Amino acid sequence: MVEVNVESIAGGPGDAAHSSWLELSASALRHNVEVFRAVEGRSGPSRALGVVLKGNAYGHGLAQVLPLVHEGVDILYFIAPQDALKVREHERAHGLPPKQVVVLGAVGPHEAVVLAREGVDVVVADRGWEDAVPVLRAARLERPLRVHVHIDTGLGREGFTLAQLPHETRFLLDARDVLEVVGGLSHFANTEDVTEQGYALAQVDAFETGLGLLAEQLGGGTTGLQRHIAASAASLVLPRARYEALRVGISLYGLWPSAETRLSARLVLGEVPVLKPVLSWRCRSQVVKWLPANSYVGYGCTYRTSEPTRIAVLPVGYYDGYPRLASGKAHVLVNGRRCPVLGRVMMNHLIIDVTRATADERPVTATLLGRDGEESVSADALAGWAQTIHYELVTRLGAHLRREVVE
Ligand SMILES: *Cc1c(COP(=O)(O)O)cnc(C)c1O
Repeated sequence: MVEVNVESIAGGPGDAAHSSWLELSASALRHNVEVFRAVEGRSGPSRALGVVLKGNAYGHGLAQVLPLVHEGVDILYFIAPQDALKVREHERAHGLPPKQVVVLGAVGPHEAVVLAREGVDVVVADRGWEDAVPVLRAARLERPLRVHVHIDTGLGREGFTLAQLPHETRFLLDARDVLEVVGGLSHFANTEDVTEQGYALAQVDAFETGLGLLAEQLGGGTTGLQRHIAASAASLVLPRARYEALRVGISLYGLWPSAETRLSARLVLGEVPVLKPVLSWRCRSQVVKWLPANSYVGYGCTYRTSEPTRIAVLPVGYYDGYPRLASGKAHVLVNGRRCPVLGRVMMNHLIIDVTRATADERPVTATLLGRDGEESVSADALAGWAQTIHYELVTRLGAHLRREVVE
């Protein structure tokens, strides 16, 4: 009997025939970390550089990104507790000193026990945490769980509003044996959509008011608290918001939060820092062939060739995260040339026009995202064709895709 190794045929290493793959640039990632090191070092005492690895490291792949950034940053932020625990696994496997890890998202009482034992910080954002207190006590922890109190300063999402604050956080006073308040955080609603930061500055004021109330309640002032509110955009364009730690997400991966942020960065920093996109998405063609003039292409017969057309069929589609809404608008790159996507994006297929991009019917490699020669397709462009934002586009890249770290 012939032994079949499923790993080797199902998108395993070296197998580019049946699927697209992602390339992650280690040097681009290092460069982006350096950009934020320079930013955080600009004003006042040095502060912690935290990076956000939620959503499978913004779709880039947590398993690949974590080893690349672990050494160069100070804090790792997650939404899901199980992702945070992967940091501790990585550290144990490689004998590395533990970094500060913070779970920003919801945590159940039993998860809280595990996180406490692993020395992972959590965020207390509502009174639901009262239920965790007896569970944490029963677990007889060696050390209390480290918590950051989330203050809702105007996003209207999680956190205690200023109206709730002194009264709804009172339970923390009686829970000091298991919950140790080490920080305070908030999150901006409107830093990337505007160049005028009035709303954000009002949030900063509310943050300080909230921290003051909290410090008064817990005693000891705000000096011991690690304060953090700045995601990528505020880290770049709102110096007042930098406090003790940055929480850089999208820009770690080399993407600007928005065009407005880029404009504001020129004003605030005096220059536009260069961010390098970390991700490229490539795909080998399944077949290249000629279609005669007047041939229909794809489901719905939405496209018809007007002349003989050399097409390439790519084994990639919306299952992999290529948005169907980009049908009829997107292009990919082959041999450094733009090739329009013809007809509809399908679940596992994309058809492109390679008439001018290649000279024969041999297989081609298409770049769906990233650079090929002089041309590039940005996550912003592909997201725009699909009427969404690059945050959504990259986080929806299939977890099943092969991810390769390149220099
Ligand atoms: C996602 C997130 C961030 C990072 O935001 P970017 O705009 O990607 O930098 C920071 N803080 C919180 C609470 C978040 O949810």
